[in-house]
Amino acid sequence: MKGVVVKSTGSWYLVRDEEGKLHRARLRGKFKNKNLKVSNPLAVGDRVEFDVETTGEDTAVIHKIEDRENYIIRQSTHKTAYSHIIAANLDQALLIVTLVSPRTSFGFIDRFLVTAEAYGIPAVLVFNKTDLYDEDVMKYQRQISHMYGQIGYASMTASAANQEGIAEINSLLQGKTTLLSGHSGVGKSSLINLLVPDLALKTSEISDFSDKGVHTTTFAEMFEVDEDTYIIDTPGIKELGIVDIPAAQLSHFFPEMRERMNQCRFNNCTHFNEPGCAVIEAVRKSEISLTRYESYLSMLHGQDNRK
Ligand code: GDP
Ligand code: ZN
Repeated sequence: MKGVVVKSTGSWYLVRDEEGKLHRARLRGKFKNKNLKVSNPLAVGDRVEFDVETTGEDTAVIHKIEDRENYIIRQSTHKTAYSHIIAANLDQALLIVTLVSPRTSFGFIDRFLVTAEAYGIPAVLVFNKTDLYDEDVMKYQRQISHMYGQIGYASMTASAANQEGIAEINSLLQGKTTLLSGHSGVGKSSLINLLVPDLALKTSEISDFSDKGVHTTTFAEMFEVDEDTYIIDTPGIKELGIVDIPAAQLSHFFPEMRERMNQCRFNNCTHFNEPGCAVIEAVRKSEISLTRYESYLSMLHGQDNRK
């Protein structure tokens, strides 16, 4: 049978088959990932083939993992330790942000976008809590959306409180597997509640399985929104996995810098203080947003702008 991993604890898995039925599963034998030092061979979103056994505690045995289109990892803080695959086969990532209560920083947004670029995953911004925005904040939101739109990032507005913008998000999700991210407090859970039909039922169904297993930290959960439409929630993870990007390559992941950098005088320009830098020139002319450039510089210099 074929299915997709909807939950992973590292020692056993929950797999949804093509008819939507859940199976508690384990891996047959030892799977080793040749290229990656990872602690978990399988992650949420992985497509697998499995056999259902009629006896024993674990009912399904996974014997094949399909090649991943992409995956996001969480790197261990220890250089020598293994990384953890958070999720695989993502079509897009939605970053939920807010302009008030709390206010998401540009640094945080831009780090997310850079990481999504590095993974090759399209990203969309969702400005939630619009019910709390006064006219000035609404205007500001439109300016920010316009700025990100010019770089190529779409954005949407929503209010989980007033159930506004939900249909628009829903149509963006259709037929895709989407990672939902956001700082805690931005309303991610509230939105997921509105997007996933019967969420409480699905959550309890999943945790019924979990309770039988060893208690391990889980990193992600996949929920069915519709046929062929899934969202992946990563509770407790506010960022996409960190990717190590060498300074000289960082601007490749800022689309508005990427398109200008071949006009810089030096081909290894870091766009910091080099003469003849086309990026700095574009910032001067306000063709590149100052907040984006500031995010770039703080990432370049390794400052912590994750807040
Ligand atoms: P999460 O931490 O991102 O999962 O955020 P929650 O969904 O738990 O929401 C955090 C708080 O913000 C809760 O008190 C929610 O009721 C509130 N909240 C969520 N969405 C909205 C919204 O659109 N408008 C307003 N006013 N409050 C919201
Ligand atoms: Zn430059």
